[in-house]
Amino acid sequence: MRTANLAGRLVLVTEEGALDVESASDGRFSPDPQTAFERWDELRAWAPDAEGEAQPLDEARLGPPVPHPRQVFGIGMNYAGHAAEAGIDLPEFPSVFTKFPTSIAAPHATIALPSERVDWEVELVVAIGRHAAGVAERDAWAHVAGVTVGQDLSERRVQMRPPVPQFSLGKSFPGFGPIGPLLVTPDELADPDDLEVSCTLNGEVVQQARTSDLVFSVPALVAQLSAIVPLLPGDLIFTGTPAGIGATRRPQRFLTAGDELVSSVAGVGTMHTRFAVNGSAG
Ligand code: ZN
Repeated sequence: MRTANLAGRLVLVTEEGALDVESASDGRFSPDPQTAFERWDELRAWAPDAEGEAQPLDEARLGPPVPHPRQVFGIGMNYAGHAAEAGIDLPEFPSVFTKFPTSIAAPHATIALPSERVDWEVELVVAIGRHAAGVAERDAWAHVAGVTVGQDLSERRVQMRPPVPQFSLGKSFPGFGPIGPLLVTPDELADPDDLEVSCTLNGEVVQQARTSDLVFSVPALVAQLSAIVPLLPGDLIFTGTPAGIGATRRPQRFLTAGDELVSSVAGVGTMHTRFAVNGSAG
């Protein structure tokens, strides 16, 4: 099943286009894309038989497929190549921060740059579909509603300001968590543990990796996070970025107004993110 947030309404995405879930279900399901996660198993059971008039999927009108998560987990240093470029040993436990939920943005947004130190981080993003507490790795994918593409945009000065790093603040400016365009259930993917993640900046490939190279896989993250914090339906996990960020390049490189980031997860989708000077973003 593929779903999206089309102008604030939950839609199923099929080859015919976008099918409005509330209309097609005669009101059985809410149009609210966030509420859907409370009844995700029911929605998945209904979706294959859904019928109705599909409308064209106008990508410009897409909102984030998970617009109002209660909790957003970010994982640092989760690819060996990225840990190496940052000069940090591989972690023994996932290195966790939050992106405050107000940072979540649409997949094709134009984002205001608060400074000249904003960096890119393409990531596989996981949405939780069932309450998860103390979940074993072997049961973890059953607690995942779906996956999508995300950018963990990061203002490196705030993130690294002394005396101690503040990952959560530096990664939570408005618009710093674009996700989408679609949410894709794991059964749609040949191998949900081996997905190609990539990112281009103005057409140049800057990041490319496979999720089979994650230090902590999606099941390991669900297990290790849910051992401490209950994961709620509609929560998000940004699973970490591969090598190729701007801050560790020599010379360093950061985003500037007019730049375009294209972020992809093969088989899942592609986001186009543009940047504007602070205050002028639409
Ligand atoms: Zn990240």
